[in-house]
Amino acid sequence: MVVKQTFRKRILVNFLIVFSIFSVAVLVYQYDRERNYRTGQLENTLDNISEVTHRYIEHKKVFETGDFKSLDTLKSLLPITNTRVTVLDLSGKVVYDSFVDDVVHLENHLQRPEVQKAIHQGKGSSIRLSTTTNQKYYYYAKNCNSYFVRTAALYNVDIVNFLKTERIFWVFIFLLLVLMSVLFYFTTRRLSDFIIKLKDFALKAGQNEDISKMDSNFQDNELGVIRRQIIQIYDNLKKAKDELTNEKEKLYGHLHVLKEGISIFSPEKHKILANSHFIQFINMISDKSTISAEHIFTIPEFEKVLEFVDQYRETDFNAPIKELPHIEYIIEKGEKFFHIRCIIFVDRSFEVLISDVTKPEKQKLLKQQLTSNIAHELKTPLASIKGYLETILNNPNIPEEKKKYFIEKAFAQSERLTDLLNDISLLNNIEDAGGLFEFKSLVLKPVIFDVVENLRHRLEAKNMDCKVDVGKDVVVHGNESLLFSIFQNLIENSINYAGNNTTISIRKYLEDDKFYYFQYSDSGVGILEEHLPRIFERFYRVDYGRSRETGGTGLGLAIVKNAVLLHKGQISVRNKPEGGLEFLFSLSKN
Ligand code: ADP
Repeated sequence: MVVKQTFRKRILVNFLIVFSIFSVAVLVYQYDRERNYRTGQLENTLDNISEVTHRYIEHKKVFETGDFKSLDTLKSLLPITNTRVTVLDLSGKVVYDSFVDDVVHLENHLQRPEVQKAIHQGKGSSIRLSTTTNQKYYYYAKNCNSYFVRTAALYNVDIVNFLKTERIFWVFIFLLLVLMSVLFYFTTRRLSDFIIKLKDFALKAGQNEDISKMDSNFQDNELGVIRRQIIQIYDNLKKAKDELTNEKEKLYGHLHVLKEGISIFSPEKHKILANSHFIQFINMISDKSTISAEHIFTIPEFEKVLEFVDQYRETDFNAPIKELPHIEYIIEKGEKFFHIRCIIFVDRSFEVLISDVTKPEKQKLLKQQLTSNIAHELKTPLASIKGYLETILNNPNIPEEKKKYFIEKAFAQSERLTDLLNDISLLNNIEDAGGLFEFKSLVLKPVIFDVVENLRHRLEAKNMDCKVDVGKDVVVHGNESLLFSIFQNLIENSINYAGNNTTISIRKYLEDDKFYYFQYSDSGVGILEEHLPRIFERFYRVDYGRSRETGGTGLGLAIVKNAVLLHKGQISVRNKPEGGLEFLFSLSKN
C-alpha cells in the first residue's frame, strides 16, 4: 500500500511540475507576444498621430506662420486620450508640446534616444519614465526632414491588464489541468495496479511462495513479459535450489554413514556441519566429554590444526583445487591411533577429517609379527629335517637301525611342516578370503561324529570319552570343512593337553532366533588364568615344549576363533570350577 501511494504520488507530483512548467512557458510566451502586439499597435497609432500632425503642420504651414498653438485643435481628434505631441526643430529645440504651454524653458530634446534613432533611421521609439509625469511612456519620433514630430502615450501593457484580458486563457489552462489530472489519475491507477501486482508477485517469489498459482491477470504487454520473466527466473532458481538441497541431503547422508569423522568450519572457526563420528572421535581423543565440534580447538592434540588454520587465516590465496593447503598427522591415544587431516578451502573455510586407523596400524604390526613368527615356526622343523639328513649323509657307516630312526624323525618333522603350512593357509583363507568358503544349511551332528570317528583311536589310546549332546535338528548355516576344523582342533587339544581318562562334552545348551549356543568342555587340567586372554592368538602356546611334543602348531585355537567368527558367532573360554577347560560359542542359524 505504501508503495502504491508513493509511486502514484510521485507520478502526480511530477505531472504537476511538468504541467506548471508548461503553463508558465505558455504564459510567458503569450505575454511576450501580447506585449509585442500591443507595442506594435501603440507604435502604429503613434505613427498615425505623427503623420496626422505632420500633415497638419504642412497643410497649415505652421512653421511659416509660427502658430504652433493651432496644433492644440488636434488633441481632441486623437484616438488615444492623453497623447503627448511634441514638435522639435532640427536642432532639437521644442517648438510645440501639447502638455506644456511654455516650451521655451524645455530643454533640448536632440539627445533623446527616439530622436537620435529618427535622425538616423527616419523614425525611432523608446520606453522610459517621463521626468514630467513620472509615468512610463512610449515615445515615438518621426523625422519630417525639416523638423521632428514626437508623440508619446502612456505605456500600460503591464501584466495586470494582460491578466485581466487573458481571463479566458486561465480558464482554459485550469480546465486543461483538471482534464489532464483526471486522465492521469486513471492512467496512474491502472499503472500502479499493475506495478502493485508485479511487486506482490516479486515479493512472493522472493519469499519462496508458490507463484505459479497466483492471479496472472497481466496483459500481454511489457508487464506480462516481466511477469513471465519473473516466473522463469523463479522456476530456474527453485530448480537449482531443489537440486542443491538434494545434493546437500545426499552429502549429509553420506557424511553420516562415513566411518571417518568429518567436520567443516567457517573461516571464523564456527561449525558448519559435523557428523556423529567426528564428535565420537574428539571425545575419545579429548579427556573431557563434549558434544561440540568447536571443542577441538581447545584440545591440545589439535593444536597443529589450529596453528595451521591460523597461518592461512589472513593469507589471501587463490589456489587450484588440487593444491589446496592441507596437513595430516597421526594422534596416538591409549590403544588407539587416529589419522588427522585438515584441508583449507579457497574461501578459507576448512575441513577436519579424523579416521580411526587403529585396526590397520595394529594389523600392520600383527602382520609383521606374524611373518616373523611364521618364519620362525618354519625354521624349526626345517632345521631338524636338515640336521637328520646331514647326519645320514655325513655318516655313511651309520647302522641301519639308526638311519631308519633319523629318517623317521625327518619324516615326522616334514609332517609337522605340512600341518603348519596347512594351518597357516587355512587361517589366511579364513581371514583374507572368508567369502570363498561355501556356506549352506548343514546338520551339525554328522560333522561332529566324523571328527570323533577320525580321532577315535587317539581318544581310546588315552582312555578318553566324548559325549555329544547335539540333536539332529540342529541345522547351522555353515561351511562343512570349517566346522570340521573347529571340532577337530578342540578335540585334538583335549587329547593333547587334558590328560588320560578325561571326558569331553559337546552340547547345544541354548538357541534363539538367530543362533545356536554350544558348550565344549573337557575334564582336564585347564589352563592357568594368566594365559587365558591370549589363548586365541596365533602361535601362542602355554607350554612351548609340550606343544611341540604333541605336534601342535600354536594355530589351532586361532583357527577355531576365526572360523566361529566367520559363522557370525562368538567364542569365549574359561576354566570350569570343577576342573577342565570350557569353550562357549555360537553358530549362526542362517
Ligand atoms: P597348539 O597347536 O599348540 O595346540 P592351540 O592354539 O590349539 O595350539 O592351543 C594353544 C595352547 O592352549 C596350547 O599350546 C595349550 O597349551 C593350550 N590348550 C589348548 N587346549 C587346551 C585344553 N583343552 N586343555 C589344556 N590346555 C589347552
